[in-house]
Amino acid sequence: MEILTLCEVGLRDGLQNEARVVETETKLDLLDGLIEAGLTYIETSSYVRPSAVPQMADSDLMMREATAAYPQPPNRFTGLVFNDKGYDRALASGCRSIAIAMTVTESFCNANNRMTMAQSMAISRRLVERAHRDGIWVRIYLSTAWVCPFEGYTPPQKTIGMAEEVWSWGIDELSIADTIGFASPLDVGKLMETLGRRLDMSKLAVHLHDTQAMGLANVTTALQAGVRIVDSSIGGLGGCPFAPGAAGNLATEDVLLLAYKLNMHTGVDLEKLMTLLPTLENGVGHPVGGRIRAWWESRSQNLEVLS
Ligand code: MG
Repeated sequence: MEILTLCEVGLRDGLQNEARVVETETKLDLLDGLIEAGLTYIETSSYVRPSAVPQMADSDLMMREATAAYPQPPNRFTGLVFNDKGYDRALASGCRSIAIAMTVTESFCNANNRMTMAQSMAISRRLVERAHRDGIWVRIYLSTAWVCPFEGYTPPQKTIGMAEEVWSWGIDELSIADTIGFASPLDVGKLMETLGRRLDMSKLAVHLHDTQAMGLANVTTALQAGVRIVDSSIGGLGGCPFAPGAAGNLATEDVLLLAYKLNMHTGVDLEKLMTLLPTLENGVGHPVGGRIRAWWESRSQNLEVLS
């Protein structure tokens, strides 16, 4: 059976886009629930200025709690880092796996990272070098890999060139992101196939959004191309504060059902995951849930739902 690794980004990418700042206590309950459901790879923190993203003000605490409560592999908790200051905070809070956010297009880099691509390139490279010295595991995100909210369609050569460049730094994982959820299934499949041939498919992830209802179609073509690491967010939470038009992330529960149907093993229990949605809803103060939720709640208990 093929193994599919899910990277749960709801606690970071999901919650950082919510109007309401979710209590740390609720986040910790969700973290326990996610682990209990079988997720082991969870993005918990973003080391940004709390004044810029108040939802992430407890990032240091979340990392400290997560790594203390679940210290054993395969548990992996990542923290998003943009600069040296963030890197220092990450290490001080016990983070051993960082994610560095980079962007393929200049205008999005200016809006999201508040720096030029040249600056971002130099800083990210330095962070990777520091991580190597400190024995820290590194993932890099390439945002706007298919479409940029400001520049439109991203030429594949641009994404491929940047992917090869950052790959040459010796990173552990590269997540290719459809930041605003405008990519087409054919383009997702094609780009991931090309990257898989040139780099190492087993270390490539996709980070998809469902803005135009292409999330599941796009993840399917990525899986067909050979991708085996998928970013997803419980309840389909998320968006991007600096990307106009971006809707939620691909929902973890939707990817899970897809994995069951494709006979792929995730180690995650859908039934347990679904029990977390009310807690999440109470925390954010509005209904949540991926495309399968309505069906899940109306399904006949007699049906064999997972095959
Ligand atoms: Mg996202």
